Amino acid sequence: MSTTITVIPGDGIGPEVTDATLRVLRAAGAALDYDEQLAGVTALERMGNPLPDETLDSIRSNRVVLKGPLTTPSGTGFRSINVAIRKEFDLYANVRPVRTIVPGGRYEDIDLVLIRENTEGLYVGVEHYIGMEGDPRAAAESVMIITRFGAERISRYAFEYAKRLGRKKVTLAHKANILKYTQGLFLDVAHEIAKDYPDIVWEDRIIDATAMQLVLDPYRFDVLVMENMFGDILSDLMAGLVGGLGFAPAGNIGDEGAMFEAVHGSAPDIAGKGIANPTGLILSACMLLDHLDQQATGDGIRAAVDHVVRAGEVRTPDMGGGASTMDYADALVRALE
Ligand code: NAD
Repeated sequence: MSTTITVIPGDGIGPEVTDATLRVLRAAGAALDYDEQLAGVTALERMGNPLPDETLDSIRSNRVVLKGPLTTPSGTGFRSINVAIRKEFDLYANVRPVRTIVPGGRYEDIDLVLIRENTEGLYVGVEHYIGMEGDPRAAAESVMIITRFGAERISRYAFEYAKRLGRKKVTLAHKANILKYTQGLFLDVAHEIAKDYPDIVWEDRIIDATAMQLVLDPYRFDVLVMENMFGDILSDLMAGLVGGLGFAPAGNIGDEGAMFEAVHGSAPDIAGKGIANPTGLILSACMLLDHLDQQATGDGIRAAVDHVVRAGEVRTPDMGGGASTMDYADALVRALE
């Protein structure tokens, strides 16, 4: 039985990395059908709307999305479509696995997962200026929102994720020593949820100490969970442990839907040249397969990525090679056979 997913190729290098990803998914025998839809600048140009109703309807009915990067105009123009989709479908868990693929970096065999709360915290954007003595911007104020509901569902998501994937430990990184109410509520709630998972080691750590320990000894961690902004910052730090954003996949998961995308953007500087590295989106597609209980197919693709990248003969320019996006996808397909 195949599952139909919505595919949004996106802007810039999006269509190129999406083509490569679909080629690999088909060769791996993923039980998927693809409902292609537009969003972003491409949709604005062709349909006059960066987030057309057809695309929203498709996501609503399929509930699982594979999405290429979308260009967000800076300063003026439409607001981020990525954020709009996350909000529309309440995709509250941002899941960012970090794994060593290219050997010879700072560390070998890193295998961590960061789970970031995607809807609350300082990023709700409740902020304003305060005028004083003729200066309209004498001060600025921003509000961190933490709800029991939000803290509970992200903590439970982290423990359920750890349980499902056989992971041993969940660490909550927080700042409850200073932000006693907001971060304190998050800590208290996570502590309560942890009691339902006696087989998983649970610990809480102060966010700044966690950042240092991640750099000094990342092997002491396994699954990490935290509020929105801390997760935004530490997920990039963790990507740095394995050589940067080029290979980083992500899932945005909610109760009503899930969207999988590479962490990188639309890379306008190399768009149309056929040289983009599709690994981020391919590994995101593997997460999508895990989500749909097609884990064996995803594991096969991950093994092919490891094999081809480690062999070093077919690498895109960002990996120091001379291969095109499709040469690399072809090499993955051969490794799958
Ligand atoms: P970017 O990630 O697009 O590019 C940064 C640098 O990395 C560029 O030099 C680019 O060529 C390179 N790069 C990125 N992905 C690559 C790949 N797969 N293979 C080889 N090289 C790659 O970041 P940016 O330039 O800051 O953003 C460009 C646009 O993308 C902006 O409009 C931004 O809003 C958008 N963006 C979208 C998403 C998303 O859709 N999730 C995420 C980040 C940025």
